[in-house]
Amino acid sequence: MAKLKLALYWAASCGGCEIAQLLIGDKILKLVEAADIVFWPVAIDAKYKDVEEMPDQSIDVCLFNGAIRNSEQEHMARMLREKSKIMIAYGACACRGGIPGLGNLHNRQQIFDTVYRETASTDRNGNVFPQASYQAPEGELTIPVFYDTVSTLNQIVDVEYYIPGCPPEEKTTWLALEALIQGKLPPKGTVISHNVKAVCDDCARKRNVKKIKKIYRTYELIPEPEICLLEQGLLCVGIATRGGCGALCPQANMPCTGCYGAVEGVIDQGAHFLSAVASVIDSKDENEIGTILKDVYDPAGTCYRYSLPDSLVRRASIK
Ligand code: SF4
Ligand code: SF4
Repeated sequence: MAKLKLALYWAASCGGCEIAQLLIGDKILKLVEAADIVFWPVAIDAKYKDVEEMPDQSIDVCLFNGAIRNSEQEHMARMLREKSKIMIAYGACACRGGIPGLGNLHNRQQIFDTVYRETASTDRNGNVFPQASYQAPEGELTIPVFYDTVSTLNQIVDVEYYIPGCPPEEKTTWLALEALIQGKLPPKGTVISHNVKAVCDDCARKRNVKKIKKIYRTYELIPEPEICLLEQGLLCVGIATRGGCGALCPQANMPCTGCYGAVEGVIDQGAHFLSAVASVIDSKDENEIGTILKDVYDPAGTCYRYSLPDSLVRRASIK
């Protein structure tokens, strides 16, 4: 049987997804028995030109991690889409916008002001900002255009499958790769994970035990080990997050932050989580509810940590 041709790419990403791909450990030997890796900038010395020269649809599968933040990433997403039969969004950033997607709370100029002018360690003489094109004596120098808005991969190109997680757990990665190797891929559009229900489904903590009068940050409380963290006032997003990781964070006494994305059938993970929080608040008094919610330190970052570009609001409106 002919070997599969596999490409891997990273766009607006932290590199964690590349490490997660290596976490499949010795199963990588099974992968390379079945597939030739034709493009993987982090590991093999292939150039963009090599991809440009490949015939359309000549790559069987592309695992694309990272969101789309600039023009180079958009160009690569479009080119790899043309060259690949199957495009897989790998990790929270490609699937839902991820941590870089929180940039959608600001615009380009605000981000540039912070990074290149306002930070204490920046030399503020001259207000120097990146320019997409610069005429040097040697010729024109160009860098990618930084966009105002971060996009998910499927907002730019058609995507066949999604592998959730920040980064995806090893068992989730292997679930997808094994299906690929065996030619048993699920229907187009599937989010590949061991569980389509919420993280709570994999979590051993007892629920429907308590209601809360106060919301805590993780450093303010040592939680009881057997009771649901949300019901102890810690904002555990597991109730609004697709399972499949095995509820790893709640097992370690830490709230789930939502990296596997929305559960099946839910459009907006943050809105789903907000309604779950409302269900555990022990008050019907509007003023008291307002006081309790004031302790939510970072509402947008808590509800939409990995999914702002994929949410119904998508970005903040900035005049
Ligand atoms: S999904 Fe998480 S691990 Fe992967 S690139 Fe994004 S931030 Fe990094
Ligand atoms: S909300 Fe969090 S702690 Fe509570 S049951 Fe669900 S995953 Fe476990």
